[in-house]
Amino acid sequence: MGASTVRGSGFVMIVLGILGLFAGLGMDTSVSGGVGSTGRIVNIGLLGQQTSVLTVSGFLFMTGCMLIGFATVRDAVEALGAVIGAQAPRPIEQALYHTPQSSSEASDNFIPGMRTCPKCYAVAKEEATSCWRCRHAFEGMHHEVAQ
Ligand SMILES: [Zn+2]
Repeated sequence: MGASTVRGSGFVMIVLGILGLFAGLGMDTSVSGGVGSTGRIVNIGLLGQQTSVLTVSGFLFMTGCMLIGFATVRDAVEALGAVIGAQAPRPIEQALYHTPQSSSEASDNFIPGMRTCPKCYAVAKEEATSCWRCRHAFEGMHHEVAQ
C-alpha cells in the first residue's frame, strides 16, 4: 500500500466525514406529534442516530487527517532515506578507507586483498570480476596491487 493510496483513502475519509457531519447536523430529529399534540417533539431515537452519525463522521474526519499526516510524514522519511541511501555509501566508505575523492581509480585496492567498486563504492574481494552490489564489471584485475 503506497503512500499515495494512504493519502487517497485519508482524503476520502475526510470528505465522508464532512458529508456525514453536514448530514448529521441537518438531520431532522423532531417528528410531527401525534393527534392532540400541538407541536413537533424530539424523537429520542433520531437524536441518538444523529449523535452516532456525528460521532462516526468526526472519527472519519480525524482518521482521514491522521492518514494524510502519516502519509506525508512517511513520504518525507522515504525521501530522506533515499537521499541518505544515495549519499551515504561514498562519504562513509571514503572516510573509512581514506580513498581519494578525485580519482575513483586510485580507490581500488586500498585495502590489501579488497577492492572498491568504482561505480557504487561497495567493497568487494580483489578476485571478484564484478561488483556484488551494482553488477559493475571490474576491469584490469590484479594490476593495481603494484603501485
Ligand atoms: Zn558496485
